[in-house]
Amino acid sequence: MFDVLIIGGGVSGISCALVLGSAGTKPFAATKKIGVFTHQKASSLQDAVFNNAYGIPAGKLGSELLTESTSQLAALYPQVIQLPDIKILRIEGEYPHFTLFANDGTTYEAQNVVIAIGAGNPFTIAGLEEYVMPHQKANPAKNRLQLRNSDHLVKPGIYVSGTLAGWRSQLPIAAGSGASVATDILTAWNGGEPVQIHDSTRVKP
Ligand SMILES: Cc1cc2nc3c(=O)[nH]c(=O)nc-3n(C[C@H](O)[C@H](O)[C@H](O)COP(=O)(O)OP(=O)(O)OC[C@H]3O[C@@H](n4cnc5c(N)ncnc54)[C@H](O)[C@@H]3O)c2cc1C
Repeated sequence: MFDVLIIGGGVSGISCALVLGSAGTKPFAATKKIGVFTHQKASSLQDAVFNNAYGIPAGKLGSELLTESTSQLAALYPQVIQLPDIKILRIEGEYPHFTLFANDGTTYEAQNVVIAIGAGNPFTIAGLEEYVMPHQKANPAKNRLQLRNSDHLVKPGIYVSGTLAGWRSQLPIAAGSGASVATDILTAWNGGEPVQIHDSTRVKP
């Protein structure tokens, strides 16, 4: 049983995984089992080039980010389990016990799930149809979709991040959305006391 499974290893999914991983030394997160499905074929990053994303060197290819971000996650936070090349087709259950059904016939159990698969149409994960709606901030001509949510929460235990949460398609917005979901989950694990995870060059007295 995973404490949280992230579906989607693009911008918002890996951003969420990095922040969750970076909390690994905190007592409230140390024993949590975290996983991320890094099925990358449908990522917006495949064809993108970035010149306007804060902190990212101009000319950076999205295809490079796909491999560099998962490598960074593996190197810094190896306790976050990466599940490559697996596509999730269906979700069943209610909080705190969801079952995820994958395209290779395997199943996964999780207490919390983050859906980070982008705003493409059709929505490809069965079991959440009642939350699918037209994207409210994308050009209607593009027929993008989002999941109905309140501050990323779709229903107890199910979070959505990135463009699928209704945000416009810009890398920093998607990354911030994934980080926001991570800190919400960490805050819940910390008994409701707000959490942020910072590293610093300053030496603590
Ligand atoms: C051509 C192009 C150029 C762009 N240029 C810029 C730019 O210059 N500046 C900028 O700020 N933004 C740019 N963007 C936008 C930016 O890339 C997106 O906003 C961002 O990637 C959205 O992040 P996300 O997490 O919502 O989705 P994504 O990054 O697309 O991640 C979704 C992930 O979910 C996976 N997935 C999908 N379905 C499943 C499933 N059923 N099971 C498991 N995994 C699944 C996908 O393979 C992918 O890895 C560009 C986008 C494109 C397409």
